[in-house]
Amino acid sequence: MPITIAIDGHSGCGKSTTAKGVAQKLGFLYIDSGAMYRAVTLYFLRHHIPFENDNPLLINALSEIHLDFEVCSTTGLPEVTLNGEKVESEIRKPEIAANVSPVAALPIVRKAMVKQQQQIGKNGNIVMDGRDIGTVVFPTAELKVFMTASVEVRAERRQKELATKGISQTLSEIIDNLSTRDKIDSSRSEGPLKKADEAREIDTGLHSIEEQIEIVYQWAKEIMQVSVC
Ligand code: C5P
Repeated sequence: MPITIAIDGHSGCGKSTTAKGVAQKLGFLYIDSGAMYRAVTLYFLRHHIPFENDNPLLINALSEIHLDFEVCSTTGLPEVTLNGEKVESEIRKPEIAANVSPVAALPIVRKAMVKQQQQIGKNGNIVMDGRDIGTVVFPTAELKVFMTASVEVRAERRQKELATKGISQTLSEIIDNLSTRDKIDSSRSEGPLKKADEAREIDTGLHSIEEQIEIVYQWAKEIMQVSVC
């Protein structure tokens, strides 16, 4: 039976890397829901759209945004496209990280993204990571995981990851960004970041990426065996 794996947690705690690894091991589709909010943010910034829920400019802009996922020939992983344009490297830039949480807090934006995410995942055998995947997008997901780690651990990891992309940021800049995003993500009215009651928790400060992948993979295998019996 197809299963859905929802991975939520704080910014920068290794959700995407874990989700990708688990999806690869299980042969499941991997979807990075944060990339969708980042792509919407990129569009709004490029077109000078005010981040206001009821603004007609924003309502109209949302109808002009078409997001898709295309498998990247180098990584073999699905990457988001914005109106047909590959925007993977653009959406990882600090300017997007600095603006994405206010955009993702807008109820109208969330409604549109959640609808698309549910459509993408309707057949199961998917690993999706984000903030509200186990609580709002797939509340009946067979496996829900909540990841966390101290902000210092997360910032150090994020700094290394950005460096591999040629982006240099100080630790304190990264800590500021992660803390601000956590605060906005946890306090918004719609789809706030919170652990689903039944989610299994991993403190990623205590494990290597390989261990995290293995832990979630084993949980998934257990659930798949039970659902076959
Ligand atoms: O996962 P990532 O850090 O790339 O997500 C970027 C931002 O998108 C988050 O800080 C959060 O504000 C927003 N987001 C969200 N809900 C999701 C995924 C991401 O609000 N399901």
